[in-house]
Amino acid sequence: VRGARERERFEFLATVGHELRTPLTSIRGYIETVLDDEIDRRTSRRFLETARREALRLARLVEGMLEFSLLDSSSMYAGAADVVALVHGAVEALHPIAAESGVTLTVQADGTALGRIGADACMHALLNLIENGIKYARAGGRVGVTVERQDPFVCVLVDDDGPGVAYADRERIFAYRERGNAPEGVRGAGVGLTIVRTVVERVGGRVHVEVSPAGGARFVVALPLFKAEPEGNAS
Ligand code: ADP
Repeated sequence: VRGARERERFEFLATVGHELRTPLTSIRGYIETVLDDEIDRRTSRRFLETARREALRLARLVEGMLEFSLLDSSSMYAGAADVVALVHGAVEALHPIAAESGVTLTVQADGTALGRIGADACMHALLNLIENGIKYARAGGRVGVTVERQDPFVCVLVDDDGPGVAYADRERIFAYRERGNAPEGVRGAGVGLTIVRTVVERVGGRVHVEVSPAGGARFVVALPLFKAEPEGNAS
């Protein structure tokens, strides 16, 4: 497992290093053209807009890098977190984004359910999945988040009413920089689900996608329930 992770890290850094160069070169080129040449306002504006777009892409790549390096600190995974409370927190944090897209966000999660996972790592995974639900839901659509206990797991279900994920794509969308059949116009880097899977599997959980009763995708995360160590184990 460790070897696979190392290789994934190496490939990630190599890819990112390679990909940072292109937007940087293009940003510098456009700025130099605007500075040097006698070009009309319209053209220089167009060049600057391209430079801005490339700068935003660069920012997304860097963000992806930061997320990956964060994922390496093992303290992020240790401990126990109340998955119900975290789901409510994540939904609250994403309400403005949902409202902006006209998406209704609902939660069904009561009581408490302790997962064997650090709160930051869990929050990270939840935010990624719910944000995807909002991003891929129909315009004016719905996203629902449900917490269910299925001993020895606590499961989080994220449902949306978007296009769903084709059967043939259900595994590969978790791969690094894989965007499957992402609808045109929906922006992304194809990194989010890789991070979710890395986090969830690291604590002994699972994540997959299936068809949602809501018509779109249902992402299911199963996290091991936290159980106090049985007494009398000390030797
Ligand atoms: P991104 O959304 O940035 O492309 P992700 O890693 O989060 O990257 O997702 C990978 C791909 O999985 C997406 O490009 C999209 O094709 C598919 N996907 C993810 N979430 C959903 C969803 N809720 N509904 C439909 N497709 C999805």
